[in-house]
This record gives sequence, C-alpha cells and structure tokens, in this order.
Amino acid sequence: MERYKQFINGEFVDALSGKTRLIYNPATEEPFAEVPLADREDAKAAIAAARKAFDSGPWPGMSIRERARYLYKVVENLKAMEGELAMLESMDAGATIRKTTMMDIPVGIEHMRLLVELAEKMDLYEPLPWIDFPRISWNFVAREPIGVTAGIIPWNFPFMMVIWKAAPALIMGNTSILKPASETPLTALKFAQAVADAGLPPGVFNVLTGPGSTVGEELASNPGVDKIAITGSTGTGRRIMELASRTVKKVTLELGGKSPTIVLEDADFEQSVDGTLFGVFFHAGQVCESGTRAFIPASRYDEFMEKLVDRVGHIKVGDPQDFETTMGPVVSKAQYGRVMGYIRKGLDEGAKLVTGGRRPDGFDKGFFIEPTVFENVRNDMTIAREEIFGPVLSVIKYESEDDAIAMANDSMYGLGGAVFSTDIPHAVEVAKRIRTGTVWINDYHLINALAPFGGYKQSGVGRELGTYGLKEYTQVKHIHVDLTMDRSKKFWYDYIFDD
Ligand code: NAD
Repeated sequence: MERYKQFINGEFVDALSGKTRLIYNPATEEPFAEVPLADREDAKAAIAAARKAFDSGPWPGMSIRERARYLYKVVENLKAMEGELAMLESMDAGATIRKTTMMDIPVGIEHMRLLVELAEKMDLYEPLPWIDFPRISWNFVAREPIGVTAGIIPWNFPFMMVIWKAAPALIMGNTSILKPASETPLTALKFAQAVADAGLPPGVFNVLTGPGSTVGEELASNPGVDKIAITGSTGTGRRIMELASRTVKKVTLELGGKSPTIVLEDADFEQSVDGTLFGVFFHAGQVCESGTRAFIPASRYDEFMEKLVDRVGHIKVGDPQDFETTMGPVVSKAQYGRVMGYIRKGLDEGAKLVTGGRRPDGFDKGFFIEPTVFENVRNDMTIAREEIFGPVLSVIKYESEDDAIAMANDSMYGLGGAVFSTDIPHAVEVAKRIRTGTVWINDYHLINALAPFGGYKQSGVGRELGTYGLKEYTQVKHIHVDLTMDRSKKFWYDYIFDD
C-alpha cells in the first residue's frame, strides 16, 4: 500500500499528530493508499507558511510573466505524469479510466495552461478619466492579489477541481492552500509534487489531507486566510460562508444543482435522447451541473421514452479500470446509501421506475448502481427538488413550453441546464429564460475554460474560469496621483482652512 504525505511549506510531511487515513477503491471496497489525517494544527501550520510566503516572499511581487514561467513548468511536469494521474483518479474516485484518460487529466492540464496564458494577456492596469477636474490628477485602477487563499474541493472531479482552484490563485499572485475531499486526496498530492519539482518558493502552495469538520473549518475561520473558495454541496457552502463572515473573507462558492434538460417539440430525438442521458449519467451522475430533471413534451412523450430506455441499455456499468466500461461506481458507501435512499423515496412518493434502481447483477462488491430512470415525476417530489448526486433521472411530462420553463426555474438551484431544439434562435430565447449560470443548446457538460462557470440562486456565489474566474483572485485598488503640484491651485483644501 502506497503511503503519501501532505505538502506544507515546500515539504512533504506527516500529520503533526502522526495519524493517518486509508483511501479506498470504490469499485473493490479495498484500501490501496494511506494519507496523513490532518487536523486544525496542520491547517494552522499551512496558513502560517502561506502567510509568510505572501507577506515576505517573492511570489506576489513577481510579474505575471515570471509566475507563468513557473506554472508552465508545473504543466509540463503534470503532462509527464498523465498516465499515472489517470489511473490514480480512477482508483480513488471510481471514475472510469476511459474518462480520466480522455478527459479529467488532459483537459484539467489544458485548463491550467489556458488560464495561465489568459492571465498573461489580461490588462491589469485600467486608466480612469476624471471628468470634473481634467488635468489635475492621474487616476488608475490596479489589480492586486488578495493574499492567502484556501480552496476546498469535492470528490467528484478531484484533479480538475485542484486546477480550477490552484491555477487562478497562483497566477494572480496569491498563495494557496488546498484541502481535497477526504475520500479523494491523491491527485492533489501529485499536483503538489509537480509544484515542488517546478521550484515554486516554499509556502506558495500547500495541500492538507484532512476532514472538512476540522481542517476545512479552520481554513474558513482563521483570520490568516483572506479568501476561501469551495466547490461542494450547498449545505457546506452555507456553513463556510457563515464561518468566513466572521473575518469578512472573500468567498467563491460553487455549489449544488438540480439542472433541467428541456426537450422542445421540434428537437432531433436521436440527439436529444443521447444528450439527455449524457447530461445525467456522465460520471454516474456525480456532476454538479448534471441534467437530473428532463422535461419532455406530452405530444412526443411515448416516442422519446421508448428511445431513451433503449439507449440506457447501451451504458456499460462495470470495473472503472476497464477501458470498455462507461459508468463506474459511486464514490463511497455513504454516497451509495444516500442515492439508494432517494430511489426508495421516489417510489414512496409515487414516481414510476422505468429502468434501473438496483445494484447491477454480478456485483457483490463495489458501490455500483444501475442507471435509473423515473417517470410520472412531479416537480414537487423530493427526487425533483433535492440533489441526489448519483445516476438517477427524473422525467417530467409537460404540456406547454411556458410550463416547462416555469418548472425548470422552480428550484432553489441555478447551475446548468440544456435546451434541445432544431430551431436555434428559438432555443437561445428559451435558454435566456432559464435562470442558471450555464445553458447548453443541443449538448451538455462541455466546459469552456475561457467561459465563466458558476451558479445562480443557491448554486453559488462568484464564477470560476475565464477572465471572470481570474478576477475573483484579485482585488482592485484605485490610485490617485496629484498632477497640480501646486498648493495654491488646491482650492478644495479651503474646505478646512479659512485662509
Ligand atoms: P461536500 O460539501 O460534502 O464536501 C466538499 C468539500 O467541503 C470537501 O472537501 C469536504 O471535506 C469539505 N467540507 C465539508 N464540511 C465542511 C465544513 N463544515 N467546513 C469546511 N469544509 C467542509 O461535497 P461533496 O459531497 O464532496 O461533493 C459533492 C457536492 O459538490 C455536490 O453538492 C455537488 O453539486 C457539488 N459540486 C459543485 C460544483 C460546482 O462547480 N458548482 C462542482 C462539483 C461538485
């Protein structure tokens, strides 16, 4: 069994308490790695290191170009470990090797490269005219790093989330402390190795492997942290916002979702059936923006459902380390129990199970759940309101487009969604009426590193990716330079002097 160490102040170290935690493969339920079990004391040590690196280290004072040189080296180092990262991510999170090899790792690394490149092109100086008093002053706005930033990460896309938190924080001149989810810390530690090998100054980047209840809460409440960014559930986001409010930290919250897929009457059904299924069953439904509620027109309902059930049969559940597998297990025993609980709730509340709902035949170990489809779902049922975070689709029949849009928006969440239609201008109009941060038309899940990603309503605060995300790791400073150079012209001083 491989033993890992966490990364604090440029060194790989054990937890101060010496305690460790086992990491399990969700497909076999067997432990395969061991990591330090950090607590508040480790968090304080990381905060002190990141504080020192920010307050007296060279990192925040470097030009973006200088920092980019280091970060491109990290990108190169990550590329050299792509295969290893893909396998680790699959064993740790239950993600299929097919997905980690084709998407999570290469796309994550590419996101880092793109964000660094984008930051290099950003204009951080903004001159301002002063209309009332021209020629007496020079005004400009400078963008500066925020300071010590902490990133709290979920278990669904562990590597990608490390990139989304660390790359913008570091390139904009902040120091960074990451807390991966307890279940899936391994690729974050490999990222730390890539940082160490690139020679970033000590304390600029740190990884703590410990639980949210201690390490996460310390990061959210410690006055030494200036900004906290979390991707996680809405409940955790609320708690972090509350803790962060005590020291008025800046926050970015990327939280849960219950996103709608609206299939319009004129949709191409070949495309919309597969699109709907990709929207909900990608990574066994453990995706924040998953299209978990499908709104299908009554006029074409039977035709759609027949095709949908047939296509669910083409999803291959199995060993995530087998390249032929297209859907692996859910991440943990706790998550398995949670998803199965929602399936029972759906049945209890009167939804009709069309397919799935069980552990697939032939799997007596591993947290596998069949792709599950409910119909006769009403938008007020628990399975249509709460985030399940597993392979469960709720199909809701609609009579008019206005009804579909109203039901789509009747949710406390507002993260993603899709519209399927052959009339693109009309689909764009429908997309504009959906109150979420991202809407795909005739597609799902394609994340553009240059576009903002984030939530309306209780799906979050702030945005990640693109210039929007980079700016979340800066604060603006207005600098006013006097150009009169002459006391006698400063009539405004007469506001306080009488001669
Ligand atoms: P979670 O909220 O249980 O945990 C997320 C992280 O927060 C973990 O690192 C956890 O240890 C930490 N944490 C938990 N309690 C904490 C506390 N009191 N203080 C500080 N930190 C704490 O979420 P999860 O189960 O790991 O991930 C699934 C959730 O993440 C889903 O709700 C999903 O929608 C959401 N998510 C959102 C996005 C997005 O971009 N909006 C992306 C991926 C996942």
